[in-house]
Amino acid sequence: MNNATPNPEIPAATRPGWLTGPCPAWCDGRHDESDGPDDRLHHGEFVAVPMSLLAQWKDSDPGEPGGWHLQMCETSLEQGYREAEPRVLIWLRAMSEEEHVDFLTVDEAEEFAHAILDQVRQARDGGPSQRSA
Ligand SMILES: [Zn+2]
Repeated sequence: MNNATPNPEIPAATRPGWLTGPCPAWCDGRHDESDGPDDRLHHGEFVAVPMSLLAQWKDSDPGEPGGWHLQMCETSLEQGYREAEPRVLIWLRAMSEEEHVDFLTVDEAEEFAHAILDQVRQARDGGPSQRSA
């Protein structure tokens, strides 16, 4: 199932040969003929949310002035050029160099988003969860 609206801003003439179909509307269109099989992905824009409750981390590269950085929770869409639908990426940019990424299906991401919104509502308004068990 690929019911996404093609991105009209990406001219077909600039697309690499391996990309046989149109990009979905959310794709940034950054594809290259030299992309290997694992890199042949449609990428969406990253949306980042700073996590102010976590300790900031400092660059540790020797010789670099460095700086303190908030840890970030980021999300974006990604879809292999032969896959039927996109997946939702959740990134936690943590203080170590390791980054943790998880993939959710679109349905799972929607359920997760509703769960977070329900918890936000409970935190702000009180009362029980409105989600069904
Ligand atoms: Zn694309």
